[in-house]
Formats: sequence, C-alpha cells, structure tokens
Amino acid sequence: MTKQILEVDGLKKHFPVGEGWIASMMRAVSGGDQDVVHAVDGVSFDLLEGETIGLAGESGCGKTTTGMSLVRLHEPTDGEIRYRGTPLGEMDDDELAGFRQNAQMIFQDPFESLNPRMTVYDTISEPLRIHDIGNETARVRRALEFAGLQPAEQFFDQYPHELSGGQRQRLAIARVIVLDPDFIVADEPVSMLDVSLRAGVLSLLERMTDEFGLSVVYISHDLSLLRHMCDRIAIMYMGRIVEIGDTDDVIMDPKHPYTRALIDAVPVPDPKADRDRVTLDGEVGNAVDVPDGCRFRDRCPSIIPPEDVDLDQEVYREVATLQRRLEDGTLDADAVWEAAGDTDRSDLASFKRELRAEYLTGSLSGTNEDVVETALQQLAEGDEDGAAGTLAARFTSVCERVDPAVERRADIADDRRVACHLYESDGPTTASRRGEDGVAADD
Ligand code: SF4
Repeated sequence: MTKQILEVDGLKKHFPVGEGWIASMMRAVSGGDQDVVHAVDGVSFDLLEGETIGLAGESGCGKTTTGMSLVRLHEPTDGEIRYRGTPLGEMDDDELAGFRQNAQMIFQDPFESLNPRMTVYDTISEPLRIHDIGNETARVRRALEFAGLQPAEQFFDQYPHELSGGQRQRLAIARVIVLDPDFIVADEPVSMLDVSLRAGVLSLLERMTDEFGLSVVYISHDLSLLRHMCDRIAIMYMGRIVEIGDTDDVIMDPKHPYTRALIDAVPVPDPKADRDRVTLDGEVGNAVDVPDGCRFRDRCPSIIPPEDVDLDQEVYREVATLQRRLEDGTLDADAVWEAAGDTDRSDLASFKRELRAEYLTGSLSGTNEDVVETALQQLAEGDEDGAAGTLAARFTSVCERVDPAVERRADIADDRRVACHLYESDGPTTASRRGEDGVAADD
C-alpha cells in the first residue's frame, strides 16, 4: 500500500481585481461586490509517496496557482490541503516549519528565483540555517555534487550571474535537495533553458525523484515532457481539472474534448500523417464572470444538443454561438444593419438575410428553422432579449445548464476522472482522486 503525501480537496484560489482606491470608491458608490478572478476553482486530487503527477493546460488555466498553493506560497480562498493527513490550515508553528522544509518548489526562471547577491554557498546553506539543520558544509557540497556542479568547492564563491542557464537551474535544484524534502512542485523547470541543456536537467530531476523517493508535481504545457516524466496527468481548464488519470491512458486515448484538442495541437514529425485532428475555436472564457455549466462549452467541438434537436454539430454550434452572443450582448446588430445597407431599418428581410450569412451558414429545417426564424424576426424588431429567450427555449444544451463534475464514468473502463456530459456518471464521487481512507493501492 502506498500512502498519500498530499490530499487536495476542493481547492480554490480567487484573486480580487481592481484593488486600487478608484475601484474601491466606484464599488462604494455602486454598492457592487468586488470582482474576483477564479484562478483555481475547485481542484481535487491526491499525490502518493514516490508518485509524479503532471498539471497541464493552456496559459492561465490555474496550474501554476495550484502548484504555488500546494507549497503554501498562496493561501487558499477555500478548500483544504492535507499533508500526511493534517490540514495545512490546522498546523501549529512546528508542524508548519516541518511542512515548509518538506514541500519545495522549483521555478521556471532560475535567475529570478535566486538572490543575485548571494554566492552559491550562501544560496544553498541559507535554507539549512533557516531550518536549523547542521553539518552545513558537507550538505552543501553533497547537494552541489548531486546536481552536477562539481568539484563543489569551485562553485562556492561564484554568483548566479557567473553561471550558465543550465548551471543556475542546477543550483536551484541543489537548493531544494539540500533540505531532503518529501515532495516538490516543478513549474516549467526547463522551459527557459536552451534546448541543448534541457535533457541534462530533466535527467537530473528524474534521478533526484528516484534516489530521494520524492513525490513531484510537474507543471508544464509540454505534454511530451509530462508523458516522459509523470505517472499521472491532470488536464486543467479555467481553474478546474477536466480529466485526470494514468498518463498513457490520457495521452493515448483522451476522453475530454479539451484534452483531445490539446493533444492534437502537439506537432507530429510527419504533418501529413493521417490524423483526425480537433482544433479549438475561440478564446478561453472569462475567469471573472465564469459561465454556467461546462466552462469549455463555448469552444467545445462536441457540445451536446438537446435530445429533440437533430442537427449536425457544426450547425448546432452556429445556433449556440448566436444564442450566446445575444445573451452576453456581443452581437453587434448595428453592424448587421450597416452590412444590410438599410439605414432606416425598415427592410427586416435584408437584415435577417445578412445575419444568416454572418452567423448561420448551415441548413435548418422543420421546428429548428421555425424557431430560428422567429428569433431573427424578434431581433430585426429590436427585441434582443426576446430573441435570446426564443433560442434558449429550444436550443439550450445540457452543457450550458449543468456543471459536469470530474468523476469516474461508467463508460470509461480505466481509473480516470472526466468532467464531461458525453460520458455516463458513475454515481457521486467526492474528488478526482483514487483510493480511499488516505491509502491507495500500489499500481
Ligand atoms: S460537457 Fe459538453 S461542452 Fe463540456 S466538454 Fe463535454 S460535451 Fe463539451
């Protein structure tokens, strides 16, 4: 049986926006609540002893904020992180000091994470003094040599700017291993390095994981790197995990439409290779005003139409996009009138024609066509809310109404969790974790 080092339950980290005095005054006048960015918004997973797990996703998906919260560089807004069974929020000073020694982070930019005024020796020995750990010189020498900076004495008096990029990242790694931690978070540990140096630093990280029996959370947008380094992988989108499971299962057979799109975006050696690629349209949604339902719904190539709406995916997405633009006020009716060349807005038919040309290129028939025509007529008459309501009554997807939980799915055989209505729920589960009662079976 393998023990859990970390259990993350419903972790949230929200950052206030508009903290300046003008924003405060505006809020005081308007009586409005402060807006927050939902950087991490309900993340749950566990980390086993000796396990490596990767957090992947586009920029801004919350993976770095999650990593920083794990080592307590961010105070969670909500949720709980337990280290060896004890909630971080309930630790006394001694326990917290022990946790800080055992939980370390390696940052993307080694130059930024090192003090330029400290020599290599002071950089490595400082955490030993902070944690009152003796045998200083021997430990510093061992850590440097393990990290490949040898003979160690030759580096003692050097400053970070005198080292190469690869040596600086090795120094950052030595500063971490000198404390003999339990687990580390490595945030894009090689992305700032020259390609020729990456393999060496990655193999150092692998050796460190094996020899020290470390648990590691790797954060990266590079799925090939994560595949090489990680036992499990969690794909994040807009502050949530949307898929988590064994790395090979997820990469070879992705289930969530977002995971599929991410994997399809990885370049292949032969671009002409026959591959059914999924491409992503649109931008990541608004992390301040998060949408109801599935957060991926506006970009999802597989959004689910209501049962009685029999439409091609492409056509359904066009109607759904029109509905969304009406609902969020981003449909520019003035521009449509202008394109129709009708300044006095009397020719409703040409407005509707223009709007169809812009938004609805697929073919509709029967009830679907009748409902769309009614909505376009309302829009031509200036009733945007009415048009949105008409479309919503017929076309609202389960993906817009119901927030899919990241959970086991009855129609996915392996031990992974997926947040998507395309798959059948396997009953309520509490978290995207495996095992129960603080213990998980060995793989
Ligand atoms: S829940 Fe719906 S919108 Fe979200 S990923 Fe699944 S199919 Fe796409």
